[in-house]
Amino acid sequence: MGYSIAIDGPAGAGKSTVAKMIAKRKGFIYVDTGAMYRAMALYFLEEGIGADDKEKIRESAKNADITISYENGEQVVWLNGRNVNGLIRTEQVGNMTSAVSVNKAVREKLVELQQALAQKENVVMDGRDIGTCVLPDADVKVYLTADSRVRAKRRYEELLAKGSDCDLDEIEKDIIERDYRDMHRELSPLKQADDATLLDTSDMSIEQVADAIIGMCG
Ligand code: C5P
Repeated sequence: MGYSIAIDGPAGAGKSTVAKMIAKRKGFIYVDTGAMYRAMALYFLEEGIGADDKEKIRESAKNADITISYENGEQVVWLNGRNVNGLIRTEQVGNMTSAVSVNKAVREKLVELQQALAQKENVVMDGRDIGTCVLPDADVKVYLTADSRVRAKRRYEELLAKGSDCDLDEIEKDIIERDYRDMHRELSPLKQADDATLLDTSDMSIEQVADAIIGMCG
């Protein structure tokens, strides 16, 4: 078992930016579990399977082979042998992801892959259920959050920078809906683990958050 830092929290709390920075500073591997769920959702979208079609999702989850590798320190997600990094960051895929990630077959498959990675590497892993379910014995557990307007603004600026046309109110509404679904699902809902440290990043810079988390490592 490697050293592990588990970071959970709602959409837009800054998990991935902070996790990447910590991984770089500590020389750990960054595991973006959301990207794996996103690749799975992309598969269902491409197959024309509806978000509500539980039966079909359960049956066809096994046909989506998802693996990750690292190129220049960046995680690359492969879906059936195809690099899908460039296709999984849209709002459409994000919303589909939160709908399909309630599915047991989907979760079991990806949790297994995540646990295997943490077994052999030192990892900073971010997601929704890392401290509660994937790595219950993580060395450091953090629950990152921020005000929903602040989180929507971060997403908005990210999308603008990529040249997407978007609306702040619309993004905030999507974020609130997605969090509600993630927090109220039956399997591995998003919640703070009993032994996780809560960090509200609304008024913190990325560096301050990374410093705080690195300070928690023994
Ligand atoms: O973190 P990201 O926004 O990429 O995650 C997309 C969706 O994937 C989340 O809204 C959640 O539904 C799902 N997810 C999950 N468990 C994780 C990571 C992501 O259910 N560990």
